Amino acid sequence: TVTLAIGVNRMAKRNAIIRKLPAVEALGSATVVCSDKTGTLTENQMTVQAVYAGGKHYEVSGGGYSPKGEFWQVMGEEVDNVLLDGLPPVLEECLLTGMLCNDSQLEHRGDDWAVVGDPTEGALLASAAKAGFSQAGLASQKPRLDSIPFESDYQYMATLHDGDGRRIYVKGSVESLLQRCKSMLFDDGQMVPINPSEVENQVENMAKQGLRVLAFAQKAVEPHHHAIDHGDIETGLVFLGLQGMIDPPRPEAIAAVHACHHAGIQVKMITGDHISTAQAIAKRMGIAQGDNAIAFEGRQLAVMSPEELAQAAEDSCVFARVAPAQKLQLVEALQEKGHIVAMTGDGVNDAPALKRADIGIAMGKGGTEVARESSDMLLTDDNFASIEAAVEEGRTVYQNLRKAIAFLLPVNGGDSMTILISVLLALNLPILSLQVLWLNMINSITMTVPLAFEAKSPGIMQQAPRNPNEPLITKKLLHRILLVSLFNWILIFGMFEWVNRTYDDLALARTMAIQALVAARVIYLLSISQLGRSFLGYVMGKRQTITKAPILLLGIALAIALQIGFSQLPFMNVLFKTAPMDWQQWV
Ligand code: ADP
Ligand code: MG
Repeated sequence: TVTLAIGVNRMAKRNAIIRKLPAVEALGSATVVCSDKTGTLTENQMTVQAVYAGGKHYEVSGGGYSPKGEFWQVMGEEVDNVLLDGLPPVLEECLLTGMLCNDSQLEHRGDDWAVVGDPTEGALLASAAKAGFSQAGLASQKPRLDSIPFESDYQYMATLHDGDGRRIYVKGSVESLLQRCKSMLFDDGQMVPINPSEVENQVENMAKQGLRVLAFAQKAVEPHHHAIDHGDIETGLVFLGLQGMIDPPRPEAIAAVHACHHAGIQVKMITGDHISTAQAIAKRMGIAQGDNAIAFEGRQLAVMSPEELAQAAEDSCVFARVAPAQKLQLVEALQEKGHIVAMTGDGVNDAPALKRADIGIAMGKGGTEVARESSDMLLTDDNFASIEAAVEEGRTVYQNLRKAIAFLLPVNGGDSMTILISVLLALNLPILSLQVLWLNMINSITMTVPLAFEAKSPGIMQQAPRNPNEPLITKKLLHRILLVSLFNWILIFGMFEWVNRTYDDLALARTMAIQALVAARVIYLLSISQLGRSFLGYVMGKRQTITKAPILLLGIALAIALQIGFSQLPFMNVLFKTAPMDWQQWV
């Protein structure tokens, strides 16, 4: 319990808050981490860089959420881009839609602009602001009458506005909007039947560069319309254009992905975003090795048999346009393959997958309360790197637990054997019961508890994950326990007999047997801990700092001091029936 609790404390310092104690141990054995893309692997700092509207391409300059930037028309490969003075009507309409159909705000903070709400929407506000639109101005010109908020399941958002005529403005994923659009608006005011494959090509080009692409559309409605629901936008939308925004990968997440791979842990990206965007980001982050990352879309997963799904879950590292309900299927498929699965989630619909995963990870900043309630662990910074840190700590915890067991069991085994054999053979007891109590309470605690504080060993993230079916006490450990128990018994029994025959003093023989045992314990403790290892390295010429384990040193020093009192202090002699030793006997 102490070891687990210390692990929890260490993880909290690295932005991972454990809600359920056993998760600490499970983390150490994770073989797959399934992570959201947006915000966890990426910065969630979005900026619109490319726009496609009225059949033309535009580039947008300026970084962050600042309203400063210019629009350039892309003329083609050979020709330079042209800085725009006034904006073409469809571009303007597309940007306007991004600002109207929006539930977020931009805020001036110091020198910088920050988004209050969804970063995707923040990027759209900034791009519209670059064109001169302001939210306050639009609120009076085109007041909002009703809205359908964004939901991952529908992948779009719509708002109804008054103004010159009533209009519905819609933004969302290309797939969700394209099927609802019959026509497309051009700069001369013409509405032409839409060519879906042409638009999909445009999307593909943007997504391949890792841009997150949103589509925009609108629809004029009768003046008596004052509310909207999903039915109103099933058909008859007019396609306006696309906006593509960058969302750069978090540098520390790239390093963490790398570390996970080294540690034999697979990283899989699960996202609601477009497959090409997801692939491009996965490639950039090293999640997908090689040029062709195997990626699947949610709708492909939906028609697979359970066996095919399990195989796809195992082989692929990018899952795009995944509906939250499919996350549960993926977790189950991976577990079917024998994996220990860590899964992130932030939405209400992610709760079943978070519950089912061996380690459900919720977002502390961005996520919903429901997701948090169903999770085993919370990330306070929503950052993938914190998952990797938690795995590292989880492995250390498990290692320290095993160290404590490897120390405690043989140490007690030796005592037990001594008493058992002596009683069976009707010999003098080398250790009295009160002395056993001293050894088990005072001495064991001062020497075992520090093992829980052991720092992580340097190679901990270079090993493969532990086999989940491996028992806590392996054969190797069992051998060691038996061997060390036997050695302890020989030591206690031998020392007792030797001193008893030499001095014919039962109390002294017992005292010295116990001192020999504690000396052996100290050496055994060093052999288990990293302190011993670094000491050995130091002796053999590899200069390392030995004081890596101050708590262990403290424990050993305390144990030695207590042992000196145990035999040299008169009241201890009375209490524990011990005898004082002279310096030769100490030596
Ligand atoms: P993820 O968080 O994994 O990127 P989401 O479920 O949030 O996935 O988004 C899925 C898709 O829905 C996005 O690719 C985008 O096209 C669209 N989308 C995201 N946020 C919004 C929003 N606020 N309004 C409209 N559409 C959105
Ligand atoms: Mg999202």
